[in-house]
Amino acid sequence: MRDFSFKNATDIRFGKDHIDAELHDAVAQFGNNVLFIYGGHSIQKSGLYDRVKGLLNDLNVVELGGVEPNPKISSVRDGQKLAQDNNVDVILAVGGGSVIDAAKVISSAKFYNGDAWDLVVNANGADSYKLDEVPIVDILTLSATGTEMNHNAVISNPEINEKIGTRVPETPAISFLDPELTETVPARQTAAGSIDIMSHLTEQYFDRDDANDVSKGMIEGLMRTVIKWAPVAIKNPSNYDARANLMWSSTMALNGIVSVANVTGWTVHPLEHELSAYYDITHGIGLGILTPRWMKQVIEDETTLPLFARLARIVWHLTGDDDLTLAKQAIQKTYEWNASLGAEMTLPEVGISDDSKFDVMAKAGVEEGQLETAGYIKLTPADVVAIYQDSMTPEMF
Ligand code: NAP
Ligand code: FE
Repeated sequence: MRDFSFKNATDIRFGKDHIDAELHDAVAQFGNNVLFIYGGHSIQKSGLYDRVKGLLNDLNVVELGGVEPNPKISSVRDGQKLAQDNNVDVILAVGGGSVIDAAKVISSAKFYNGDAWDLVVNANGADSYKLDEVPIVDILTLSATGTEMNHNAVISNPEINEKIGTRVPETPAISFLDPELTETVPARQTAAGSIDIMSHLTEQYFDRDDANDVSKGMIEGLMRTVIKWAPVAIKNPSNYDARANLMWSSTMALNGIVSVANVTGWTVHPLEHELSAYYDITHGIGLGILTPRWMKQVIEDETTLPLFARLARIVWHLTGDDDLTLAKQAIQKTYEWNASLGAEMTLPEVGISDDSKFDVMAKAGVEEGQLETAGYIKLTPADVVAIYQDSMTPEMF
């Protein structure tokens, strides 16, 4: 196993009873000026908006509502201005990954006088900005991204058809994870979130550091948990154990712990980001369509087969001696599990009915993911076009 350093400072408050007892002090410890960020209407509908406002009624709260799914840079710019004009001390983000991701970039943008898009584009590069940050407290309402305990943020710029994953210096200061708040998540969004969790695990599982059995074992356990509980949550949205297991899985899948010694970059996320950038589709649904097709393509390289066979045996409980047969069965299982959650499984079903943008999306996806050099299996733009083409029809093998 490779050497690694690991630190994650997010203070997790998991369960039903933390918010009413602790939210006020968790926020107020950082100051009186609060920027409260949220999405569309889900928190008003559920009553969470009024509950939060009631708990913070002695603080100076300014609001940024309406942050969109696949959060747009325009919302981040609005948040930057509010944070600067009101000299905010702390951000309270209440929502899913989109709201929390937007909050993360706003947190640095308060200390930046240029366009917030610069922070998205250059965060990892040579021009990396060394900015201060406003601390973030969040209340998560959807299990999917792991953003509640990681450094990532994904922001879209529709004017130039870009959706870019970036890294912020600090993980959220405090994350409140109350599974009950996810009971109102609609079935399709529960499916998309669960597929997103599975995709994060898959991207980290297929890594070339074969010696890291600890990570592989943790990922297999988390996959089995998601496979078991997502259908339960969809059938019975108020099943607390299902919601709790999905919520903690989403956090554990992408807080950095299962990828500590990894050497290989991600593939399917950069390819999905292109679909969302051009067609604004739901992230998890796009991943569910692309993942089995990516798997199909990479098993053509037989160095991948032992790990696929391990996945088949341990996660999908399949038996047999032939690695290629097991790999194909595991891919079929992946496809069928996604479909069983009610997720669309082809691009035409999500409104992508022609291939006119495949070339430009493939080129950009390969660039974003550095797939010609850093992928588990190296992919060229032509390989990626083949994955998109294969996603046009339901046939697998
Ligand atoms: P989301 O985009 O935050 O939310 C999707 C929808 O679910 C929204 O319409 C939202 O409505 C609704 N919703 C949220 N909580 C709800 C609740 N409790 N009850 C009812 N409806 C609820 O979904 P997400 O999957 O969490 O985030 C997706 C974004 O995160 C994408 O941009 C994706 O690329 C990114 N992402 C980030 C990371 C990371 O590590 N940072 C990882 C993977 C993906 P309202 O707007 O009305 O609240
Ligand atoms: Fe994701």
